[in-house]
Amino acid sequence: MKIHEYQAKAFLKEYGVPVPEGRAVATPEEAGAAAQSIGCPVMVKAQVLVGGRGKAGGVKMARTVEEAEARAREILGMKIKGIVVQKVLVASAVDIAAEFYLSLTVDRAARAIQCIASASGGMEIEEIAKTQPDRIVTFSVPASRGLDRKAHFQELSRAFAPSAVAEQAWKILGEIYRLFTEKDCLLVEINPCAQTPAGTLVAADAKVIFDDNALYKHPELETCRSPEEYSADEMDARAAGLSFVSLEGTIGCIVNGAGLSMATMDLIKHFGGSPANFLDVGGSSNPQKVLNALRIILKNPRVTAVLINIFGGITRCDDIARGILMAREKLSLPVPLVIRLIGTNEKEGRAILAAAGIDAYDDLTTAVKGVVARAQEKRAS
Ligand code: GDP
Ligand code: MN
Repeated sequence: MKIHEYQAKAFLKEYGVPVPEGRAVATPEEAGAAAQSIGCPVMVKAQVLVGGRGKAGGVKMARTVEEAEARAREILGMKIKGIVVQKVLVASAVDIAAEFYLSLTVDRAARAIQCIASASGGMEIEEIAKTQPDRIVTFSVPASRGLDRKAHFQELSRAFAPSAVAEQAWKILGEIYRLFTEKDCLLVEINPCAQTPAGTLVAADAKVIFDDNALYKHPELETCRSPEEYSADEMDARAAGLSFVSLEGTIGCIVNGAGLSMATMDLIKHFGGSPANFLDVGGSSNPQKVLNALRIILKNPRVTAVLINIFGGITRCDDIARGILMAREKLSLPVPLVIRLIGTNEKEGRAILAAAGIDAYDDLTTAVKGVVARAQEKRAS
């Protein structure tokens, strides 16, 4: 999960890293008021979850309150890499004498946390890697042992010099290392890590990405989620406890298990159709899940047919069948449903559907060929 710069800076501040005072706002008037209370000059910065905002014109300096308001008016509503700017951060402008780079990422192969540091900050790390590879310092910190001054201070000093700067960088590294491990991050990046003329390091920009697979340990981070990162359907599915990804096609898919979902999508493509989504109802057995899944899928006007493909394990076929009947009762079903049902409680599931006059296949190939044909008929009509 990516979070905005203003949110990332709040975490940095909580962990002790110096950040410029700032406030996230949604209107030019609020930006003016923020500049007034923070004191000019300020930076007005687009808050979007993509990099390279500076180059796109989404980061501007303002020397007066009026200017801050004007810059915010320009930046709010602007599109950066396809995303409309809805908030700007108004932050005290740092007087920058030098720009450094500092980040932590996961090095899976080495089972370590990798630190990347450079005296050539400001530009994106990929850019530094291309133009000045010899100015990049990397070292691994074994996750089991953590940071160790003896092992790592010298490495860090190769990027951060002279020693007074290295000492500050070492302190910041310790703080972001604690943030990284305590909150299960995939990335903590400070770029630029700005040095003021007085010699102090400040995080002028920050990026934090949390590991989605560890979010269950940190329910408090849910409030940081930015809805614009997901489609409305994806947010809806998340609330219903379903794993869902929107795609471009016309065939809605309800499948149990991520692996079977992938295989189902491949088979749909193979027979000339195209999936409208990935949706996994597995993990537990509950008729309500089928109802929710159909409700979300049928909101998509592109969907011309729906395939329900269940290979019952933990998910029981009778629960799925009950869910289908519930959906038929509570939703209008404007498109054909094609069902393939085998596995746990298959007999019971089929009996429930048969009693309601609904057919179910046991063979997946036949079911997929069927749904592709129905989707095409529906589109032609
Ligand atoms: P990014 O383009 O999305 O990475 O956004 P940044 O926040 O890193 O801003 C881009 C560039 O704007 C930085 O590399 C700096 O050169 C400049 N910049 C950002 N914040 C400040 C600031 O507080 N003071 C000054 N003088 N320049 C800044
Ligand atoms: Mn940056």
